[in-house]
Amino acid sequence: MQDYLGRLKKGTLKLYALEQELTPDEAVKVRRTFIEEETGADLAPLGKYAIGIERVVKRNCENMIGTVQVPVGVAGPLAVAGEYASGSYYLPLATTEGALVASVNRGCSAITRAGGASVRILRDGMTRAPVFSCRDVVHAADTVRWVSEHTDDLKRAAEETTRHGRMLGIEPIVAGTSVYLRIAFDTKDAMGMNMVTIASERIAVLVEEATGARPVALSGNVCTDKKPAAINSILGRGKTVVAGIGLSDDQVREIFKTDAATLAEVNTRKNLIGSARAGALGFNAQAANIIAAIYIACGQDPAHVVEGSSCITTVDPVPGGVYVAVTLPALQVGTVGGGTGIDTQAACLAMLGVGGGGTPPGSNSRAFAEIIAAGVLAGELSLLGALGAGHLARAHATLGRG
Ligand code: NAP
Repeated sequence: MQDYLGRLKKGTLKLYALEQELTPDEAVKVRRTFIEEETGADLAPLGKYAIGIERVVKRNCENMIGTVQVPVGVAGPLAVAGEYASGSYYLPLATTEGALVASVNRGCSAITRAGGASVRILRDGMTRAPVFSCRDVVHAADTVRWVSEHTDDLKRAAEETTRHGRMLGIEPIVAGTSVYLRIAFDTKDAMGMNMVTIASERIAVLVEEATGARPVALSGNVCTDKKPAAINSILGRGKTVVAGIGLSDDQVREIFKTDAATLAEVNTRKNLIGSARAGALGFNAQAANIIAAIYIACGQDPAHVVEGSSCITTVDPVPGGVYVAVTLPALQVGTVGGGTGIDTQAACLAMLGVGGGGTPPGSNSRAFAEIIAAGVLAGELSLLGALGAGHLARAHATLGRG
């Protein structure tokens, strides 16, 4: 240990090179000890972990010094009637927000009592949009024309880079001399960002060769990855999912201690008008809460909560009750790749019965997306109900404070 610490201090050994000389666990320990000495912080709690890190240090996290542990609670059972997920599920929610799991649990119970959430996937395509520089607007227009005339050739070439990915289409977008090609892929059970990026690189090379348009960046921000953007809400990114449930007046009264008209008014004035007045992209109460908690538990890329939370919640008054629905235009999920193979995250996916590649490919990630959408619906119902009954502050005071 002392030898490595000495070389790290002298700069003759780089922090990132420790795994070249040590096993992953030893390297993590030496690196953590070095950082403890540099910062004076006790980092021993980061060293207590149960996950195997052999693959993690190669694929998920450079310069690893340990892990942080996030408590996982469970909400459910949640009855889901989707095309890929059908049955009763317990949702793993990784969170430190007291009252969140209890809130989702109450929504799950309402949905299950009312017969289960209906869920459908309307669109499924991960996107990447490389940007090209053109000489002038005529060159930009010619480039777009060439791309639309050669889409089949580009599709064939792009699909050579992956066994599972299938190109769905290319949406060209022009701004002056900049051309953006928003390329959409069905990435099956992978969330697909790496897959689509690799395929887009192949397309960019072919476009440059044929048109002379100069590729500037593989991501031109029209994708749009991990930034709030209306294009994702309008055209979709990842999976576009809807979930809905009808609740009778009696169910609203018994479960939420409020009434259907109040539920509808809270939704209209808060989620719709309030969000519009605020210029928000998300018209919902707490979609990000559920998405973040499930993403962290299940090894998803948590930065995709940005797009995932652009959910619209609607409450339609219907004879004898209400019909409540959530529309998630851009839910990005995978059951293979990324962080899904880490032991604890894989266990949470297994709890939902969606771990790994599905049969046929794509069916697991679609089932997962349907379950998340139903979970978001549970969270929306519960929070709207709590606000309608005036219970929100009380629940947080009881459950969220020490
Ligand atoms: P990945 O871990 O890079 O790759 C997953 C691979 O699994 C696929 O490429 C595919 O190989 C293979 N696979 C096996 N069974 C499959 C099945 N049933 N369905 C689909 N694929 C299957 O994962 P990714 O989803 O493409 O990318 C996710 C990672 O990208 C995350 O770690 C995320 O944080 C990161 N990320 C990257 C960028 C970027 O710009 N590159 C941006 C944001 C996030 P084949 O391709 O040969 O089929």
